[in-house]
Amino acid sequence: MTEEREWDIIVIGGGLAGLTSGAYLAMAGKQVLLLEQRDLPGGCCGAYSSGGRNVPAAAHMVNDPGMINGILSELGAAEITFTPLDPVFDVAGPCPGKNLIITSNREIFEGSARGMVTDSARENVSQGLGRLIELSGQINRETKALPLESPELMSFFKRLFLGLSMQRQLPMSMEYGRMPVQQFLSSVFPGVEMQCLRAALRSVVPVRGARALDLLQLLGNVAGGNVFYPDGGVESLVETLNGCFQSHGGVVRTGVKVTSVNVAGGQVTGVTLADEGTINGDMVLSTIDMKELFFTLLPDRVAPRLFQEKLAKIPLSDSFITVTMTTTLPPGKVSEGGKGVRVINPAVKEDELFTSDEPDRVSLFIHFPEPGLDRVRDGLSVVQIMAPVRFIYEDNWHSGPECKKTEEYNEFKKQYAALLIKRADAVVPGLSSHIADIAVATPVSYRSCTGNDEGAVYGWRRPRMWRQKVHYTNGLYLAGHWTYPGPGILKTMMSGKNASRIILSGE
Ligand SMILES: Cc1cc2nc3c(=O)[nH]c(=O)nc-3n(C[C@H](O)[C@H](O)[C@H](O)COP(=O)(O)OP(=O)(O)OC[C@H]3O[C@@H](n4cnc5c(N)ncnc54)[C@H](O)[C@@H]3O)c2cc1C
Repeated sequence: MTEEREWDIIVIGGGLAGLTSGAYLAMAGKQVLLLEQRDLPGGCCGAYSSGGRNVPAAAHMVNDPGMINGILSELGAAEITFTPLDPVFDVAGPCPGKNLIITSNREIFEGSARGMVTDSARENVSQGLGRLIELSGQINRETKALPLESPELMSFFKRLFLGLSMQRQLPMSMEYGRMPVQQFLSSVFPGVEMQCLRAALRSVVPVRGARALDLLQLLGNVAGGNVFYPDGGVESLVETLNGCFQSHGGVVRTGVKVTSVNVAGGQVTGVTLADEGTINGDMVLSTIDMKELFFTLLPDRVAPRLFQEKLAKIPLSDSFITVTMTTTLPPGKVSEGGKGVRVINPAVKEDELFTSDEPDRVSLFIHFPEPGLDRVRDGLSVVQIMAPVRFIYEDNWHSGPECKKTEEYNEFKKQYAALLIKRADAVVPGLSSHIADIAVATPVSYRSCTGNDEGAVYGWRRPRMWRQKVHYTNGLYLAGHWTYPGPGILKTMMSGKNASRIILSGE
């Protein structure tokens, strides 16, 4: 059935990018319809229902809260509050009994780093750490100078200047963006005496193929006291944006999956839904997985063949398993007074980290996101274990090529989660015997929650500089972590804002 009403813009996807762009467009007086396949908006930052409750999909650490609130205030929404996280990480392993505390407090950071190496190497630690901190500061200054606006919003001269000056203005980002993090760490902390320290530092960038730049950016944010949890969890941001979008007249429909974007004569005409209903609109803004959009939702041959071939080959970001527990351990006590995210590494060298999907070989990230997530059940504390693990593990977690969530799948994820919790007992004593309830999200769950290929949590493995207006199909626009400026809270919100500016400027 075709609905009679014609919308100015149809937004596909109710994650941060869709909600932000929708809010800007609705505020500008456009008739905006946002379509979300899940029952709740939020995507990677939302909640999913498990056992009749809404469970947060993942604890999020954020940088630059002022810029996030800047967007909310432009939209006329209430600002949200953030709790600083410092120390940011307390890393246990790979050497037993030696922890690395990653904090803005240089004395504590350095003291813990010195404790991770043999006596003869202690002097070199101070020198290496000094270099690391200095480089991370320089990288951060460079990165902050990078524009967050889409290339389409820059003037011709700005684009030209940026292209020509990239090498000169961002020499370190270019150099360390190419260098594998292991190679970098071996040059700063050489020798077998420092291998524990190298592995502990490597482990806080939990992605395969991480570059030196990833670690340096993170350490720059730690040193600058720029790591926070959003109060109320990242879902508070989703709620704020959703409320703001609707208050400006935007309409959200949840539980509706778009199955095609309709195009006639090179012009978008609307979308078709899974129930076969059709909605008309001559502008569509897609925030979903670009491969899904170009290979499934758009008619064949809309995108040039070369572009499709390129798209098919781009590596995806990794996925995670997340175990969210409400525990009867008192809040505050459970996190031992805020030691940051506890990391547990298996006993391996730095180049062996993130190579295995087995529950006894993955690194664990244990979050205590209070006051973030304790709304799940008042008075109790929430502990969340996250571990990077691939979608393809054990025949897609025993869900097969069709990703069917059968008994076998459920049993397997339960057993896997139980092994992670047992390991987490080492840093949260009594955890396994104080669990009031538990929800487990595997990469297969992230795939179904977000529609992202292989449950990729950050879009592409490395950010891409796509244009947000699709030039060969009039009326089609892109936003979200598949587009520039890339993944994460602030950047996906920026991509939503940029897309709305491009649409409103009539480019
Ligand atoms: C486990 C995990 C941990 C993370 N940790 C951090 C962190 O600490 N800090 C940080 O900054 N970032 C983190 N991120 C990344 C961050 O959450 C994402 O980059 C960001 O939220 C992406 O937002 P988005 O709007 O681009 O996409 P998404 O959130 O993926 O939203 C896309 C939406 O489109 C919907 N959709 C898909 N297909 C269809 C369809 N056909 N029809 C209708 N709707 C559809 C999906 O259901 C989804 O709601 C994490 C992500 C995950 C999953």
